Amino acid sequence: MDIRWIFDGKFFVLDGIDGFSARTSTRLASDEEIKIDAYLKQVHSAHVFVIDDPEVMPRGEIEGDGLITDIPAIAIGVRTADCYPIFLMDIKGRTAAILHAGWRGSYKGIVKRALEILFEQFGISPGDTVAAFGPGICGNCYEVGEELMEFFPPEFFRRRNGKLFLDLFEFNRKILEENGIEWIVPPPACTYEDDRLYSYRRRKDKSRLISTVEILPS
Ligand SMILES: [Zn+2]
Repeated sequence: MDIRWIFDGKFFVLDGIDGFSARTSTRLASDEEIKIDAYLKQVHSAHVFVIDDPEVMPRGEIEGDGLITDIPAIAIGVRTADCYPIFLMDIKGRTAAILHAGWRGSYKGIVKRALEILFEQFGISPGDTVAAFGPGICGNCYEVGEELMEFFPPEFFRRRNGKLFLDLFEFNRKILEENGIEWIVPPPACTYEDDRLYSYRRRKDKSRLISTVEILPS
């Protein structure tokens, strides 16, 4: 399977994966064009909420940074503007997850927590799991303070002109690989570099990119 991001003029759309609709909006898409049925009050945590009752759709009243469901036709979503949206999909079409991963959530282990739920609660095997990173701020652009060096191993930092940069994609990719995930789709763009995207760092945008994943009814 050749799974990759394509840009359709308004959205980055994950192409080549059957049974799911996974996408991230850009500045070129209006909110009315985005279907989002369930989302959390994001707090940079590792809390992952499982939607197992179609009658109970969180719409911002529950705190957390990851959603998982096996119910079709529900678009679960996160909002980001430099943090990474991370999509996890079981290719057999049973389960989808979406995570909001900035440095705090990454450090606290949101990726590991979501994988634990997928493997233990939903019985999914790592070999059936596709992980896709949506657009976020890349390791060349994400300047951080020295205090972050106590939270991440040195290999994920680089220095340039006396400044320190952190690569959250590589950090989370390594966690995915350590947990047996082989299908990893890298981010389609850097929010800081690509003017189609919102970047909190670049423009202090209050707007957010919306990323959603939905299991398509079979
Ligand atoms: Zn960049």
